[in-house]
Amino acid sequence: MLPALAHSPGADPLRAPLFDAQGRLMTYLRMSVTDRCNFRCAYCSPAHWAGKKDHLSPAELQRIAQVFARMGVRRVRLTGGEPLIRPDILEIVQRLRAVEGLEQVTMTTNASRLQALAAPLRAAGMDQLNISLDTLSPEAFRRISPMGELADVLAGIDAAVEAGFPQLKLNVVVMKGVNDGEVPALVAYAHARRIIPRFIELMPFGQGEGIPTQALIERLMASGMPMVADDAPQGPHSGPARYYRTPTGHVGFVSPMTQNFCSGCNRVRVAANGDLRSCLGGREQSPLHVLIRGGATDERLAVAIRGSLGLKPDGHRFTEAGAHDQLLPMMGIGG
Ligand code: SAM
Repeated sequence: MLPALAHSPGADPLRAPLFDAQGRLMTYLRMSVTDRCNFRCAYCSPAHWAGKKDHLSPAELQRIAQVFARMGVRRVRLTGGEPLIRPDILEIVQRLRAVEGLEQVTMTTNASRLQALAAPLRAAGMDQLNISLDTLSPEAFRRISPMGELADVLAGIDAAVEAGFPQLKLNVVVMKGVNDGEVPALVAYAHARRIIPRFIELMPFGQGEGIPTQALIERLMASGMPMVADDAPQGPHSGPARYYRTPTGHVGFVSPMTQNFCSGCNRVRVAANGDLRSCLGGREQSPLHVLIRGGATDERLAVAIRGSLGLKPDGHRFTEAGAHDQLLPMMGIGG
């Protein structure tokens, strides 16, 4: 039997654990703070994407995080678009760090602004950064992110290392004929800085052809790297990555295409404009901003959140024919 959804009559919508309709417990909130990006990578953002004008304010983001924390969410990841292009990003981090019940505030970033912001982010209470870097080759970088500068990213990563974050991870999306020859070099680059590299299978949001995790593991082993399955870096807020131990450090793999992990999904998303999205691969949304700006109480927000999670699909449909046409842009949802 499924756990009763807590918007059922009599249940306290703010206190009951946050289950979705499939009985999965939600403890992890991804908040997009902007649907704009200074990189516009081809696999993430459609060429025509203009973004929405109205973004949640720092106080509104805090309010939403507070309601989720009261419902048992313990970790928030800020994402986008590129979160560091928001001029008020440090205020956002400080406000989220002040939310009672939240154990971790983390961020995914392209690192382009970390030279200036790594130390202030750490001082504002940011616990952990996931940094996206797909290539060490300036030429491949220009193909993937024509609006970005590889030198800024590399300097930003060094600044993050210098700032002393307890854990840094590197997100690498591997694409056939673009960066798939660089996997050992990216592992070496990350391990030299005590960063955990994680190779992510390409999802069908934009252009490019991905490589299955198993093929990457075989290539790494063929390159002379011994690998032993070991999920030690998972910690209390485990995500979908599977880890391997190598002589120089851990390597992670996130495999949405070949090892569907939706049955263990613990996450819910809020887009930059305040639309609650229960699934990265779904289209249903619930406009939390309308409720907040209409003066809704925390209880009313909690009921809306639970209602939306009642519609969370059992899984994505990324591998089905025509999946790309069914998806909203990654950049608009918040990756
Ligand atoms: N701008 C930030 C960044 O670059 O990290 C945060 C947003 S970005 C959407 C978050 C993560 O999603 C990045 O690590 C990016 O590589 C990943 N991503 C974007 N499009 C993807 C796709 N089609 N398949 C797999 N991962 C993707």
